[in-house]
Amino acid sequence: MTQAEESAQEVCAAIRAGDRRAIARTITLLESTRADRAERGQQILDALVPDTGRALRVGITGPPGVGKSTFIEALGLHLLDAGHHVAVLAIDPSSPVTRGSILGDKTRMERLAQRDEAFIRPSPSGGTLGGVAQRTRECMLVCEAAGYDVVIVETVGIGQSEVTVAGMVDFFLVLLQPGSGDELQGIKKGVLELADGLVVNKADGDVRALADRARRDYERALSLLRPLSPSWQPRVLSASGLSGEGVDAVWQMVLAHRDALGGSGEGEARRREQTRAWMWSLVDEGLRHAFRTHPGVAGRIAALEGEVEELRTTPARAARALLDAFRSH
Ligand code: GDP
Repeated sequence: MTQAEESAQEVCAAIRAGDRRAIARTITLLESTRADRAERGQQILDALVPDTGRALRVGITGPPGVGKSTFIEALGLHLLDAGHHVAVLAIDPSSPVTRGSILGDKTRMERLAQRDEAFIRPSPSGGTLGGVAQRTRECMLVCEAAGYDVVIVETVGIGQSEVTVAGMVDFFLVLLQPGSGDELQGIKKGVLELADGLVVNKADGDVRALADRARRDYERALSLLRPLSPSWQPRVLSASGLSGEGVDAVWQMVLAHRDALGGSGEGEARRREQTRAWMWSLVDEGLRHAFRTHPGVAGRIAALEGEVEELRTTPARAARALLDAFRSH
C-alpha cells in the first residue's frame, strides 16, 4: 500500500466516524483547482462510495428573500430534535456580471451552525454552474458517508440552478411568498413543474389569510400540470419558518413522498437516473474541455468563430472543420 493510499484510508475512517475536520478537509481537496489535491479528494471519495446513498436528499429553492435560510434553519433544528443529523449545502449561481453572491455572504443559520449534529457548507465559489454542482454532489456524498441522514441542498430559484438541484435530490421543494398565486414572483413556470411540493412561506401574523389564498391559487395551478410521478401529486402547504408553524407538516410531506415513491420503486429509479445523468454530464464537460484545449483545435477556434459571425462560412462547415481537426490529431 502506498503512503497516499494509507492516508486516504485513515481519512475515510475519520469521515465515517463523523470527524468534521476530516469532512471539511476532504471537501476542500475536492474543491481544489490543483490537480494533485483534487485527485486525492477523488481517491477518498471512491473509497467512501459504498457508505453513501442512505440520506434523504431534499432540495429547497425560492426567490431571494422568501425566507429560505430562516426556513431551513427551523426545519434543520426540528430534525435535530427528532434525532437526525442534517447537512445543508448551497448552490449559489453567483451572477457572472456582478460577481456577487445571491445567497448572501451574511452568516446564515447561526443557531443550526452551532450544533454538532449539523454541518453547513456554503456554495463553492467561482466556476461554472456545472462545476459548482459537481462539487456540491461530491460534498453530499462525503456528508452521507459521515452519517448525515438528511441532506438539504439550497439554491436561489431564478436561474438554471434549480434544475440542477432538482436533478440531485429525492424531494424538490419550492418556497414562495404569500403574494398572489397569479404572478410567479420571478420564479419561472418550469420550476413549478419540477416541484414535488410547494410551501407558501411567511404564513404568520396578518398575512395568514393572504397565504391561504395563495396556497389555493398554487394548488389550482399545480393541478393543471401533469404530475412528474404516477404515484405522487405535488402538494401545496403554508408554513412560517419564523414561528415554526407548519414546518413539521412540510417534513411529513417529504416522508409521505418518500414512502409513495419507495413503494412503487420510483424513488430508486429516480436515483439511478440521476447518477447516470451525472456521469454523462461529467463526460460532456470533459469532452468539451478536451476539445477546446486540443492543439489542433484551440488555435483555429477564434478565426472560425469570426468567419461564422461574418457569414463567411456556415456554422455547420465551421463545426465540421473543428471536429475534423480534433479527430485527425
Ligand atoms: P432568503 O434570502 O430566502 O434566505 O431569506 P431569509 O431567510 O434571509 O429571510 C429574508 C427576510 O424575511 C428576513 O428579514 C427574515 O426575517 C424574513 N422572514 C424569513 N422567514 C420569515 C417568516 O416565516 N415570516 C416572516 N414574517 N418573515 C420571515
